[in-house]
Amino acid sequence: MSAPGRLVIVGLGPGEPHWLTPAARAALDGASDLIGYGPYLDRLGDLRPDQRRHASDNRVELERARHALTLAAEGRRVVVVSGGDPGVFAMAAAVFEAVEGGDPAWAGLDIHVEPGVTAMLAAAARAGAPLGGDFCAISLSDNLKPWEVLEKRLAAALSADFVICLYNPISRARPWQLGRALAIAREHRAPETPVIFARAVGRADEKLTVVPLAEAAGGLADMATLVIIGASTTRCVLRPAGERPWVYTPRSYGGGR
Ligand code: SAH
Repeated sequence: MSAPGRLVIVGLGPGEPHWLTPAARAALDGASDLIGYGPYLDRLGDLRPDQRRHASDNRVELERARHALTLAAEGRRVVVVSGGDPGVFAMAAAVFEAVEGGDPAWAGLDIHVEPGVTAMLAAAARAGAPLGGDFCAISLSDNLKPWEVLEKRLAAALSADFVICLYNPISRARPWQLGRALAIAREHRAPETPVIFARAVGRADEKLTVVPLAEAAGGLADMATLVIIGASTTRCVLRPAGERPWVYTPRSYGGGR
């Protein structure tokens, strides 16, 4: 029998190398094989000569997960990389789905999830403190779930007055969904509700835009954008002309302490 392998699913954080946790760094350093979407692997720079790189397309998550499990079962020290946190709309769920439906021996493997800074936390930190009250995260991608489910979930979250973080807001294949989501938001929230469009947070081309819900439009987002729709209590703290306002959600209702 070969040596026991190991599989670590690692979150790289949203972009800046200093947002990679020391534990994630240690897992990467301990890997014999690194698996992931090409651009995420590129972020790691040159690998050591003893490390193997297995880049893949972004769409083949389950296949990538099975490949990782197969290598770990052969005794390799495998790391699967994800952007942000690997458990948030990312590879960790694909790995457990593959374990559940795959070779029974996979359930006995040493599998470990190493967390990372997810996009909504990085975006919120840049904007101020929009997640100071209750919030939720919704992926707007209807590749893996029907749009009707998404509309219902959005309406429920809006009527429950959560701050809502929208991952995967738009793509070439899904051009209208964000516009529709914002229209649903306008049915529940005041026109002046702050909406944050946080693009490529932690990368060289980072851009943050804060607009009132009345002016929020799908065109302000792309695939690298995280959208945060404020709750009824979310507000802006104005700053000197030309500077972006801080956005925050008070922790208490009614402004008391
Ligand atoms: N696992 C990732 C999310 C994967 S889904 C995480 O925890 O962050 C991909 C979506 O995440 C993108 O469409 C975008 O909405 C968001 N995202 C990822 N990185 C981002 C970044 N640096 N800035 C803003 N949004 C980002």
